[in-house]
Amino acid sequence: MGGSFYSADTPDSTWKALAEQLIPRLAGREKFGLQDLLSLFEEIPGEPFAKAGVEGAFWDAGAQHLGRPLFELLGGRRRSIPSGVAIGIYPSLEDLLARVERYLREGYQRVKIKIQPGWDVEPVRAVRERFGPVPLMVDANAAYTLRDATVFEQLDGFDLMMIEQPLAADALEEHAELQRRIRTPVCLDESAESLDALREILRLGSGRIVNIKVQRVGGLFNARQMHESCMQAGVPCWLGTMPELGIASAQGLHLGTLQNFTYPTDVEASARWFSDDIIDPLITVDRQGWIHLPEGPGMGYRVDREKLERYSTDTMVFDL
Ligand code: MG
Repeated sequence: MGGSFYSADTPDSTWKALAEQLIPRLAGREKFGLQDLLSLFEEIPGEPFAKAGVEGAFWDAGAQHLGRPLFELLGGRRRSIPSGVAIGIYPSLEDLLARVERYLREGYQRVKIKIQPGWDVEPVRAVRERFGPVPLMVDANAAYTLRDATVFEQLDGFDLMMIEQPLAADALEEHAELQRRIRTPVCLDESAESLDALREILRLGSGRIVNIKVQRVGGLFNARQMHESCMQAGVPCWLGTMPELGIASAQGLHLGTLQNFTYPTDVEASARWFSDDIIDPLITVDRQGWIHLPEGPGMGYRVDREKLERYSTDTMVFDL
């Protein structure tokens, strides 16, 4: 996203972190392993998006070097990944319902609608009335407080798959309190910003599902650690998106083959967000809502060099 949208990271700040901090420190090293990379990350505070980019390239290069698919290195097994669609807030219920109808027809395996105060119970009721028992969830993006608990008690009657991030990111105790009051699983998204935060979420019982985002937590290794912690705690998770370009989505999808990623991913078809992308093939969702990972080593999706050059707005070259 242009500017800072879902996080403090922006394209400009990420470019700066890569160009001035991360890449210069890697330049000139003959060999380095994952542990070296993680140690380097510890020396540089913050910058999770930039780190996720470097680490994703590292994993992909490693998998290609070994001639193995990326999911194998990450500990996953080849499988297709169910995809869900996320639908924003619309001026009218009819607009919303038209979108839901379109994406269900395209095959997506669940529908997530964004809610905010004043746009919550009504749109959910309208979708249920029109489309019946389709897999449905809501995402509040932290827009409520515990004083709005009656909204969630009403939503509890619609058999939702989950309610994502109802309260503020740091309101972990309040999330636990809300979860005790409703039977619909609460899913933590913005709250799950690091392994430490996840530990607190699991300790307090702030929710029963976690949305893991590779960029937010600074790379595939941290995201995998979070997946492991959730699995040990018996908390299922799913793979979210910031959303990122196809390279990072593809890497995320490989991670998404790990066994405790049990709910549909937010990664959608490339065409949903972009008029074009620099990977070949583009990410597609079949009519039953599945994303199939291509065969081949690494992430299986090739970077299209010609498009990369065509769409580049800036370039820096380092002697590695
Ligand atoms: Mg969310």
